[in-house]
Amino acid sequence: AWQLVRARATEKKYGDQVTPDASSPLSKGRVILNCEHGDPTMFEEYWDVHQDDNVMVTRANEGISYFVKSKMHQRGPWFVSVELDDAVRELHALVGNAVTRDKFIVVGTGSTQIFQAALYALASRNGTSTPVVSEFPCYTGYPQTIKYLQSKLFHWAGDSKTYQPKGDEVFIEVVCSPNNPCGEIREGLLAGRNNNGVLVHDLAYYWPTYTPITMALNNDVMMFTLSKCTGHAGLRIGWAIVKDPQVAKKMVDFIGMNTIGVSRDAQLRAASIIRTVVKGYQSGPLADSIADGMHTFLSQRWPFIRGDVLINAILSRGKLFHWSKAVMENRWGKVRSAVAANRSFSIREPPLPAICTFLGTASSPSSAFIWLKYEEEADCQKILQRNGILARGGPAFGVSAQYARLSLLGREQDVDLLVKRLATLK
Ligand code: PMP
Repeated sequence: AWQLVRARATEKKYGDQVTPDASSPLSKGRVILNCEHGDPTMFEEYWDVHQDDNVMVTRANEGISYFVKSKMHQRGPWFVSVELDDAVRELHALVGNAVTRDKFIVVGTGSTQIFQAALYALASRNGTSTPVVSEFPCYTGYPQTIKYLQSKLFHWAGDSKTYQPKGDEVFIEVVCSPNNPCGEIREGLLAGRNNNGVLVHDLAYYWPTYTPITMALNNDVMMFTLSKCTGHAGLRIGWAIVKDPQVAKKMVDFIGMNTIGVSRDAQLRAASIIRTVVKGYQSGPLADSIADGMHTFLSQRWPFIRGDVLINAILSRGKLFHWSKAVMENRWGKVRSAVAANRSFSIREPPLPAICTFLGTASSPSSAFIWLKYEEEADCQKILQRNGILARGGPAFGVSAQYARLSLLGREQDVDLLVKRLATLK
């Protein structure tokens, strides 16, 4: 029988959760590698090195009230703390991935709650339930959440590609870009072209880690999450950048009814972590250019130098996105050569490199997930499972079982083991 074990960095560090030996044969004591969830444990390595960059002390007299001192306080409870509001704006200004000026920041318990707040705020309330669509393959969380809520305000209406609005019916289109699961850059199929369509942008992966940043997006409702940005999924902090004050207020009303706000401790820690990331980019131009020069020199002078050696060189520099991009690129290099060796499986052709305005160099997208296709009519997820890999199958994303999604956000040794198994998939 397979043993269900999550690969862990060291046995000493994680107590009784044993580290499976990446090189152990798939015989006795073999482990199933869990690549089903997009759990961002990859970031642990970075924060292990930088743990002392961010130490926070809170005292017992903090967090007493339901309400936080917020910039919008005069207009009623707004729940987002000044610290987080400021930090989020600073982060987007640094990365250049979203416009925040003259917009509202709505904080939620993960972007999972923000998504529900957006649906609540944007549903038409004209006596009929508002259809919600997204292009397939789409993130499993959308249909799942909408179906279990069984709301009278909105319902799941499936794939944007096949949805036909009835008359002048109002509908919501959720656009995930880069898309979970396939990494595609999307702009929405319907809503932008139809006056009655409302767009919600899920930009969980619009960070330099996963895709070149090509412009600062300026959409009406843009959702982000700390989970995929710094890896702190456990803080459960997500936010929306919202243009219309009425929509923002309705979203806040939902957060109020749903959980009476968002943990103040989590907000403070999120603000502090974000500030640490921003500070990492303020280390001074001289230090930066020396470090960048060293890095370029090393990779050009010795192109055979191993990716992980370069990554370690970046790790200590405190530039989170430079490190995470290098890690993802290194992982994709390994994945592509592993899959290329097996003709029964395929992955999307690597999209063309684009100039990342943040990194200042041309780079290719490096999606958080492998979107694997089995070339024949068969269940890809089951084949993977027989090979000791847990994946999420295509039907969960609204497409054929020939597809399956594998997370690439795990710890390094999990990924190495995954690559090894992918290379010998049967
Ligand atoms: N949107 C997308 C596209 C995601 O992949 C995820 C997490 N898997 C979420 C939203 C939810 O993120 P959070 O942890 O902030 O709830």
